[in-house]
Amino acid sequence: MGKDWEHLLNFRCTCCGQCCREPIVLLTDEDVRRIMRHTGQPPEKIATFYPPDEIEWDLSNRGWIKLEEGDRIMGLIRSEETGCQYLQEDDRCGIYEHRPVTCRRYPFDVEYDSNDELTLLSISDSVECPYELDGRNTPAQIKALVDWEDEEEQPYFDLVDKWNAKSTPDGPSGFFAHLQLA
Ligand code: SF4
Ligand code: SF4
Repeated sequence: MGKDWEHLLNFRCTCCGQCCREPIVLLTDEDVRRIMRHTGQPPEKIATFYPPDEIEWDLSNRGWIKLEEGDRIMGLIRSEETGCQYLQEDDRCGIYEHRPVTCRRYPFDVEYDSNDELTLLSISDSVECPYELDGRNTPAQIKALVDWEDEEEQPYFDLVDKWNAKSTPDGPSGFFAHLQLA
């Protein structure tokens, strides 16, 4: 396979803030914990639970939580008008050092071969992204973020599976307690 994607390693975010206004950012318990520590907010002010018709996340994927109100996915609270609550007026992230791992990896979508070598990189089309190509991102930096995301996602998905195996569904506060966030 050719490497006609390699020029995208020169991606540079122009900080337009668009990707902080539109998409829903999925969270793990570790993301919520980091933001709680930094902001002092309780989990219910950080995370909410989205139904299948509000998010493009296939029902066959892991992460769907069985709540009393139905299947839900945990993501950052956002408003239709202004997007993420942490997006500042200058279009910068107000919790930059503590932001979710998904925000750090965005907008790269990547594929690896069996030797963990980067074989394909693309820029997410979830929003119109006015990026420049005068930056520098190394495959090692991108791999480190993907590994970090994976390391926190898998234990979180295991916790969700454990929750879903319960015989009696519960609400969001019970789920936060299950994650030891409340
Ligand atoms: S949409 Fe693209 S350019 Fe705009 S903030 Fe997001 S990553 Fe940066
Ligand atoms: S946490 Fe920060 S980077 Fe992530 S969506 Fe919100 S403002 Fe954007």
